[in-house]
Amino acid sequence: DRPDPDQTRFLLKLSGEVFGGGQVGLDPDVVKSIASQIADASREGIQICVVIGGGNFFRGAELQTKGMDRVRADYMGMLGIVMNCLALQDFLEKEGIDTRVQTAITMGQVAEPYIPRRAIRHMEKGRVVIFGAGMGMPFFSTDTVAVQRALESRCDAVLVAKSGVDGVYTADPKTDPTATRIDELTYQEALERELRVVDQTAFSLAAENKIPMVVFAMEEEGAITRALQGEKIGTRVMP
Ligand code: UDP
Repeated sequence: DRPDPDQTRFLLKLSGEVFGGGQVGLDPDVVKSIASQIADASREGIQICVVIGGGNFFRGAELQTKGMDRVRADYMGMLGIVMNCLALQDFLEKEGIDTRVQTAITMGQVAEPYIPRRAIRHMEKGRVVIFGAGMGMPFFSTDTVAVQRALESRCDAVLVAKSGVDGVYTADPKTDPTATRIDELTYQEALERELRVVDQTAFSLAAENKIPMVVFAMEEEGAITRALQGEKIGTRVMP
C-alpha cells in the first residue's frame, strides 16, 4: 500500500492529561519537550502523525456526572483536543518542523479538514500531521481514534505514550506488588489474561485489523524519540 514500505510511519498517541502538567489548561514546558522529541525523530526521516487526548480540558463522561448532557459534553471534549493540537503545532514549528493539523470537525480558520489521502501526502513530504477533534463523534475515545487514524493512514504501529505507567503489567502495579511488566504479548494473550492495554473499542479495532501497538512511559528522557525510532521500550502488543 505504501510507495516505500521501508520508510517507517508511526502514529503517536499522547494523553491530554500530560499536556496540562497535571492541571486544567496547558503546560507549555511539557508541550515544548514533547515537540522537541518528535522533531528529533522527524529529522531522521521517520513519518509521524499524532493523536492527542483532551483530558486536560474536558472529558465528556466526567461532565455528564456533573449534570451535563453527554453529547454536548463530548463535543466540548473534542474542542479541547483542538487546543492541544494547536499548542503542539506551535512548538513543532518553532523546532522548524512543518506541521499540519487536520480536524474531524471542520474549522477552516485553524486547521485543515480531515482528508486521509492528503494526510498521507503530508507525511511523505516530511510533515508531521496532527489529527484533532477526535473522531468528530461523541461516545468515542481518543485511543479508538488513534487506532482508526493509524489504520487509515497505513501506519506501521500505534505508539501509546502513557504517563505514570511504563507498559502492560501482569496485574495492576498500583494495587498488586507482585505485578511485573510484560515486554511483548499478542492481542489474543492480552484478551485471555484480561489485561487492559487501551479501552475495549480501541483494543478490538487494533486486534481485528492486526496493527501492532507499543505502550510506553513518556516520563523517561527521550522516550518519545526512542519509541519513534522503533526502539524496544515498554510493552509491544502484536497481532
Ligand atoms: N471525545 C469524543 N469523541 C472522540 C474523541 C474524544 O467525544 O472521538 C471527547 C470525549 O468527551 C473525551 C474527550 O473528548 O472524554 C477527551 O478525550 P480523551 O478522554 O480520550 O482524552 P485523554 O484521556 O486521552 O486525555
